Amino acid sequence: MQGYKPGAECSECKGQCCKDKGCSLAPEDMLKALNKEDGELRDQILTLLNDENGLYAIDYFSEEAGTCFYLRMRHKCYNFIGVDAMGECVALTETGCSLSPEKRPKGGRYLESKPDRQCVQHYSREQMCTDWAPYSDILKSIWKEYHAKFEEDGTFDKCDDAYFAWLKEKREKNKDFL
Ligand code: SF4
Ligand code: SF4
Repeated sequence: MQGYKPGAECSECKGQCCKDKGCSLAPEDMLKALNKEDGELRDQILTLLNDENGLYAIDYFSEEAGTCFYLRMRHKCYNFIGVDAMGECVALTETGCSLSPEKRPKGGRYLESKPDRQCVQHYSREQMCTDWAPYSDILKSIWKEYHAKFEEDGTFDKCDDAYFAWLKEKREKNKDFL
């Protein structure tokens, strides 16, 4: 496997990184997941994102050099358009990540765990910007189209409601163990 295996501290920590944000893909992770029969690249990416068991979402961040659109793991209760998305990674279970270490996106494989929890991300934002540059326009156009649609038809509000209900249920469940 290329990257870092989770350390012993990860089982104790129970995936704080995965509760903060789904890990970032590199384009090679996306390309591996595409079905090349689904037409042009934009259509292939849309089919991948629209899959009912879809794992990925488009997100972005801004750097001095510009805005980087990329894919990351989707968050529970949210869909394939990442907007200040709260929640935790859709692949996180009570027993850890449901993906094998080899199948995890590059941002997960290149996160080096540390016993003091000052874990180090070796897949840098600069590298992500460079890697995703050839796909940025396509991802941006999908993001803009569906962001407008989901805002208009109330999908984002439903996602937020589902997330808060999920959070409440999780808190209630944890209370039972106290
Ligand atoms: S990488 Fe760090 S934050 Fe993530 S589970 Fe391991 S110890 Fe926790
Ligand atoms: S894919 Fe696995 S390692 Fe990456 S954020 Fe999700 S649960 Fe964590």
